[in-house]
Amino acid sequence: MAKINRIYFNLILIDFYNFRQMNKFLSFLSLIFFITFFSCSPDKKNSNSTEPTKIDKTNNTVIVDCHYTFEEAIAGSKAPKAVIQQLQLINVHYYSTDGKVHVGQILTNREIAEDLLHLFDFMLQVRFPIAKAIPIIKYNWNDNLSMQANNTYSFCYRNTSYSKHAYGMAIDINPYFNPIHWKNGFQYRQDKPLGAVYNPKRPGTFYQSHPVVLEFKKYGLRWGHNFSRNYDDHHFEK
Ligand SMILES: [Zn+2]
Repeated sequence: MAKINRIYFNLILIDFYNFRQMNKFLSFLSLIFFITFFSCSPDKKNSNSTEPTKIDKTNNTVIVDCHYTFEEAIAGSKAPKAVIQQLQLINVHYYSTDGKVHVGQILTNREIAEDLLHLFDFMLQVRFPIAKAIPIIKYNWNDNLSMQANNTYSFCYRNTSYSKHAYGMAIDINPYFNPIHWKNGFQYRQDKPLGAVYNPKRPGTFYQSHPVVLEFKKYGLRWGHNFSRNYDDHHFEK
């Protein structure tokens, strides 16, 4: 009898031993679970918040090319009040020729402001470089100086009725990469800007089937390449 009791006692000891081993095993599993959960969840959060194909406009490495108020951007313009009242100053992001994202401004007619915001976003996503986009006040309202600096702009009041820039319904993009050249019969006129050479292989330069040209046309903006007297390749208007 004593022998049987000893056997039972030993079996209970073995069970107790197994029970302790099982507890250890469960504790180990719990530990692994917590380590996995706490170390992986922040990583998951980071990977979800990153969209590699979308350009982050809030990134603090964006280079600010200008930061005018509306009043500063129209200061000194000879435009009548009725024209000034049609204008809107928009912030635009673009890849510049240095390969970095910049933010500039376009002073334009509020009727095409939404179109231009979309088109700048399109140019950013396809990495079409814009040298700079600064309201022409920076060049003292001098269109030639602005073109020479390869500056992209919309509104510039001129005392003429033919230019759509006079009320912000046109935009010139990278004028130095896309110079005006005159058609037959008008070649006595000076191509502009001075010294600019058209090279369709250079990024930021337009040609007939260029995706940016097609996108502008899609939004109802006419391309100056099709003007009757000259190829105004940097010019779009509505
Ligand atoms: Zn123009």
